[in-house]
Amino acid sequence: MQRRILIVEDEAAIREMVSFALSRHGMLGVEASDVRGAQEEIMHAVPDLILLDWMLPGMSGLDFARRLRKEELTRDIPFIMLTARGDEDDRILGLESGADDYLVKPFSTRELIARIQAVLRRSSPAGLDEVVSKGGLKIDLAAHRVYADENPINMGPTEYRLLSFLMTHPERVYSRSQLLDQVWGGDVYVDERTVDVHVRRIRKALEPFERHKYIQTVRGAGYRFSTTL
Ligand code: CA
Repeated sequence: MQRRILIVEDEAAIREMVSFALSRHGMLGVEASDVRGAQEEIMHAVPDLILLDWMLPGMSGLDFARRLRKEELTRDIPFIMLTARGDEDDRILGLESGADDYLVKPFSTRELIARIQAVLRRSSPAGLDEVVSKGGLKIDLAAHRVYADENPINMGPTEYRLLSFLMTHPERVYSRSQLLDQVWGGDVYVDERTVDVHVRRIRKALEPFERHKYIQTVRGAGYRFSTTL
């Protein structure tokens, strides 16, 4: 699954450098030049990780970090602070704000990628776990099998990929085009309605086990996996 990394940085050159490095490592960089832009991106799709510049126009990265940690939607998103300061006090302040890591500018993209990968490994065990269980549904990522209360459920490979993506990214809304990018791959041309077809098939497969309501339609936005009905 392609990781989505939100880069909140007012210097365009740094954003572009980071985006490029991310794309070379199979990740998607989404750019925002200030807090407002970052919030719009988060509403659009919750990122897997945020790179947050300390000094931003308007609201500082530190204040934004504190806000991220307060709000339910963003509380669990790992973030790495980017800063020009190397001051020990600032480092501590950054980590106290909830940052998962801290990088002092100028940094090499190699170091940045290594830090991102380390934070993602620590913070999203769901992506690495062989088995993910939610609300009585279990997905065995190694065996490519889905179970409802230990009963195996038959579904096609596309339904399996779509369901495993949604289950490993629960409580987040994905638009049809994001799901196409994530599940079908960005290069393939597929009509957005294809997503609806496969969602219907997943629901049909889950319905006998009364788990079809986990795949929720969010009007005007897309789909979400949630065991909270
Ligand atoms: Ca800055």
